[in-house]
Amino acid sequence: MDVRDQVRASVNIVDVVGEYVRLRPSGPSRYMGLCPFHNEKKPSFTVHVVHQFYKCFSCGAGGDVFKFVQETQGISFYEALKWLADRCGITMPKRGGYSDEDSRKRAAIFQMHELAQENFRANLKSPAGEAARAYLARRGVAPETIERFGLGYSLGSGRALLRLFEGKDFSASQVEESGLVGKRQDGGMYDRFRNRLMFPIHDESGRIIAFGGRALAADDEPKYLNSPETAIYKKSRVLYNLHRAKESIRKEDRVILVEGYMDAIGVSAAGFGGVVASCGTSLTTDQIQSLRRHSTNIVMNFDPDPAGANATEKRIDALLQEGMQVRILELDDGLDPDEYCKDRGAEAYAAKLGDAKGYFHWLADRARARFDIHTSEGVVSVLKFLMPAVQRISDRLERVAIANDVASYIGVERGMVLDSFRKAVADRQENGFQRPKVALRPDERMLLNVIVSDAEIRDQVIEELKTIEALHNFPSRKIFQAIFSLHDGGGTIAYDEVHARLEESDQHLLADAVLNEDAHATHEEVLAALASMRKSQMEETRRQMKLQIKEAERGGNWQEALRMTAELQHLERDWRERR
Ligand SMILES: [Zn+2]
Repeated sequence: MDVRDQVRASVNIVDVVGEYVRLRPSGPSRYMGLCPFHNEKKPSFTVHVVHQFYKCFSCGAGGDVFKFVQETQGISFYEALKWLADRCGITMPKRGGYSDEDSRKRAAIFQMHELAQENFRANLKSPAGEAARAYLARRGVAPETIERFGLGYSLGSGRALLRLFEGKDFSASQVEESGLVGKRQDGGMYDRFRNRLMFPIHDESGRIIAFGGRALAADDEPKYLNSPETAIYKKSRVLYNLHRAKESIRKEDRVILVEGYMDAIGVSAAGFGGVVASCGTSLTTDQIQSLRRHSTNIVMNFDPDPAGANATEKRIDALLQEGMQVRILELDDGLDPDEYCKDRGAEAYAAKLGDAKGYFHWLADRARARFDIHTSEGVVSVLKFLMPAVQRISDRLERVAIANDVASYIGVERGMVLDSFRKAVADRQENGFQRPKVALRPDERMLLNVIVSDAEIRDQVIEELKTIEALHNFPSRKIFQAIFSLHDGGGTIAYDEVHARLEESDQHLLADAVLNEDAHATHEEVLAALASMRKSQMEETRRQMKLQIKEAERGGNWQEALRMTAELQHLERDWRERR
């Protein structure tokens, strides 16, 4: 068994996908969830337990566990293989290695980040880390929290990491592209992070891909310095702390979104594990989608200053566009989430979380503060202000409910609000659940599924099907051809094997068959499907013979026509008897 087979046998695609997409059981051997490869509100992304593949019926994405890891992490096959092998403790053979320059570079940069992390953590414990430790103590960060979040300290010398990398097997360009060093005009290099409190940033699978560094000296600018984008770090895709938070996010079906590293750490340390930080002003579609895979309920908890409020408005818009349920958590006395948890305690924060307002109330509050709702112009302005958010609500009933809320909240008539809402909402065309364009007949579907799933009656079914010439007219003809030739050649008939021999359109059909059938058909059901296939065969034969009879008659070949008519009658009697 080669490593690929070993890995395939050791991992369950449901576990691997399940860490990335919130899956729910859907039938005996299927799970469904929101597709990570396109934006959807109703799940059409399916994972099959028995055949170990995934398939999205809306965007067509599909494949095995290796393909999933490749696509979601944007890495090569070899990297995906290694990543999966590491997970299940399978050692990769030394020979081979990374086949291409890109994979080698990424591997080197990952390694440099590991080395940097070790260095930063050791520095924080060393005498040089005293100021950083004092800062953390002042902010009330407990030693176990420092440990848990892997906080560290970068030395002020400017050459600590460089020296560390020099002794290793990295090329100059790899070091330069790591994002951990900067380059002077004269070509000399220096450590990017100097005299800073260091926050490691992880990808969703928990690997360190970047760092954030907080200045410790008062006059150091900027206050927060982040890694630049590199081959392993795409800023717009990452949310701080998601790899630790995702389990809580799923369990509580809620994500708390805060602004900065310290907020995420503080809220998490107070016992609210499902917290992530955006670490920037905007919120990208990629980031929102990576949250949506775990929960569609979000509570936004940003700093209470006006700049924070404006940014919140923009984020609400982006979140609604992606179908998230948004609530806003506002804290008193200008405290940020970290300060609030420490100052008022976890219980007070929990109460605030429970009371978080739906985004519409929050928006209406903002509108009320801005416009005078005692004048009709003011009311019109308020409604105008709310429209962009209204337009994002795709559910009609939800819109009506919100119209009621808004009407009573700003003290105008319900009908007026509803009217203006209705006008604002453009007709949306939701992407429905798309089936493959050519649909399989139920008997084809059932028999295809039996053939790839049930070794016991597979041979019998295949032999029988080979005698049914009418199969040539069926949508599944190429799939059956692939199965027959595999069978004749003595090959293994498994979903993967058949799938690999098909063109893309037939791959969709096969997936459709396997995903829409129950794994275990009864013997009677199989017999019924075969009988239905034979019936099609008879109808086809009858059609052909009738054509030939007509042809003979037209050509004046009466004897031949009579002979064939007799033959057809004979056949029909035969069919009736067999039934
Ligand atoms: Zn999709």
